[in-house]
Amino acid sequence: MSRIVIIGSANVDHVMSFDYLPSPGQTLLSQQYRIEHGGKGANQALACARLATAQSQIDFICHLGCDAIADEMSASWIKDGISPQGISKLAGEQTGSAMIFLGEKGANAIGVALGANASLTPQSLEKHRSLITDANWLLIQLETPTASVAHALNLAKSHGTRTILNPAPAATLSHDILRAVDIITPNETEAQAITGIEVSDIATAKLAAQMLHQLGPSIVIITLGQQGAYLSCDEFKGQITAPAVDAVDTVAAGDTFNGALTIALSEGGSIVEAVKFANRAAAKAVTKPGAQRSIPYRSELV
Ligand code: AMP
Repeated sequence: MSRIVIIGSANVDHVMSFDYLPSPGQTLLSQQYRIEHGGKGANQALACARLATAQSQIDFICHLGCDAIADEMSASWIKDGISPQGISKLAGEQTGSAMIFLGEKGANAIGVALGANASLTPQSLEKHRSLITDANWLLIQLETPTASVAHALNLAKSHGTRTILNPAPAATLSHDILRAVDIITPNETEAQAITGIEVSDIATAKLAAQMLHQLGPSIVIITLGQQGAYLSCDEFKGQITAPAVDAVDTVAAGDTFNGALTIALSEGGSIVEAVKFANRAAAKAVTKPGAQRSIPYRSELV
């Protein structure tokens, strides 16, 4: 039995589409309104659960509010295989939410209320200490408080839990965090935020990867959208291409990539095989619209 713990955010996204974005003081009727279950932590936990076999235990440490959307989201995650013990619903809090306005030619305006995600502090992680120290793999991102990210990574590292950091959304990172990371998986923008190197092709990806190795992680994977990913580690340095697909929506592609990577590694696959599996899973996700709706099940990848 392999144990994987994901720590991170859970949000509900309210998405409204318009011909153009409303100006201050203006009220517009939306042509289309939808509610999406999102948050990078939840997306990555769900990707792990949908892509895992029965031999894995998937724990997701997150904070939700005490509201109807928390019940709806957590029920759907548990149905897909996430274990319930890491999911907390906090009295007096609201589940994190985003209001997303979409306008002409990809223009958008987004407001985020962190809600219960903001209270995922180092102290609250201690309540789930054994889920982290007993896990084989920890997968974490940057949508929860930075002090908690540092605490979780250092706790995992000191107990032999292998650590994967998806440094999204883009941010500069302290040495304290990077030293505790075994595998880092930025996209091009995130790699630039950490290293200062503008990543635009394989040569610049290689340079950024070299700098990231010096900061701690022994394995660097820079995702490159439809070009797949650049992998840098002792065994292999180079691009691993993604399957060519008709992309309709790239939301949650990176999250699917990270979940799939973690599952393949937890099953004992080589790092090269794991990146190929992650590319296949993420390419499948971009063929479908939506966030959690687009994350594939293992049976869809055969
Ligand atoms: P990104 O976060 O845009 O770098 O994308 C993450 C991963 O999703 C990539 O490493 C690919 O595996 C996959 N991906 C993203 N966009 C595409 C696309 N247009 N076609 C195929 N795979 C894609």
